[in-house]
Amino acid sequence: MADAAASSQPTAGSDTNRARWKYLDRILNRPGPFTDPDEFRPGNYASVDRAKILVIGAGGLGCEILKNLALSGFKDIHVIDMDTIDVSNLNRQFLFRAADVGSYKAETAARFVEKRVKGVKITPYCGKIQDKDESYYMQFAMIVCGLDSIEARRWINATLVGMIDENDPDTLKPLIDGGTEGFKGQARVIFPTMTSCIECQLDMHAPRAAVPLCTLATIPRQPQHCIEWAHIIAWEEERKDITLDTDDPEHITWLYQKALQRAQEFNIPGVTYSMTQGVVKNIIPAIASTNAIVAASCCNEAFKLATNANPFLGFPGTDNYMMYTGDESVYTYTFEHQKKDDCPVCGSGAVARPLEVNPSATLQEFVESLAERPEAQLKKPSIRTGTSSLYIQSLADLEQQTRHNLVRKMDDLVEEGEEMVITDKAFPTQFRYKVIWKK
Ligand SMILES: [Zn+2]
Repeated sequence: MADAAASSQPTAGSDTNRARWKYLDRILNRPGPFTDPDEFRPGNYASVDRAKILVIGAGGLGCEILKNLALSGFKDIHVIDMDTIDVSNLNRQFLFRAADVGSYKAETAARFVEKRVKGVKITPYCGKIQDKDESYYMQFAMIVCGLDSIEARRWINATLVGMIDENDPDTLKPLIDGGTEGFKGQARVIFPTMTSCIECQLDMHAPRAAVPLCTLATIPRQPQHCIEWAHIIAWEEERKDITLDTDDPEHITWLYQKALQRAQEFNIPGVTYSMTQGVVKNIIPAIASTNAIVAASCCNEAFKLATNANPFLGFPGTDNYMMYTGDESVYTYTFEHQKKDDCPVCGSGAVARPLEVNPSATLQEFVESLAERPEAQLKKPSIRTGTSSLYIQSLADLEQQTRHNLVRKMDDLVEEGEEMVITDKAFPTQFRYKVIWKK
């Protein structure tokens, strides 16, 4: 960003000082080899100028997305984030300074970008996406997500699908979703109800598989196994009366030393204090370059959607998912993720999704397993069948009335082929499953 250009360059559409917008001008004025001649109008600045766009998240991805959109010519940007700035954000969330620690991210990011890119208006909302209703989301041309929470993604996805009115094309809000985890990331574009949605793709973002306890207890192979051993087994044996506080350096030091000892016994190198902290707190490092790459891809899609300057990801029947891996080299792969007919959010509703259930498990075990299952990931499920309420967590007195079922076996409560309706107050969705006994 050149400051001299920033101060004298008001809008992408004006004729004065085009230096900052030189590359944008080329894309908007000249068709490329892949441009659809029927859709492309040279010099169509109004399409980006007027597009009202919502960014969800003003953290690692969000800072990049806001900066990129502003420098791509978008003028009317809204941003939602509930978080305040922490000192640990400053290494990559470059719109924030030490003096901003404690302030709201959305507010601070908006003011910073407005100052540096003249002519752009950024409207922040410091709160939860769930505070807003359909009438709020209806005002936008598209939505870009830079979130680290699967739950928030699932909520906005279900909300956008629920907003669709087949007779009103304006109710279709493309959702561009970016996500990163360490050196890996993805950018995907969703046309609610028309193409595969976040819920259809849920099992691609499975919670990380836990290492079996027997591996930890008998034959650790990796430094992480030794740390998990210290965390789960050694602490329980030796410091049972103290509640582990993962923010207490003394506790982490104790775990680190235990893990190191065990690693030495098994000749496993690599246990460090920061790895201990990472494993115990389940931290995946946030990497600035991954954020930059994924955010760039998301904003590229937003720009193409707004201008038709080039084909965009996500057009029904074409590729809609770009994955990036940077662990071993720089690699991207783009493919079409298929819509699932039994998707609880965007499916036809005609079929319940088959769900394998262990007939001899208790209802309690089944409830707990729903949090782990890649295709469900429901932390506070309430479960009904066509005839009865098996377990309801959403209301205290219903919870009391149904609690006695928790110790009962599944084959005592449901039959094979029976349908279960599962709800979780985190999502505006009814999940319908058909019981299949696990053999
Ligand atoms: Zn779906």
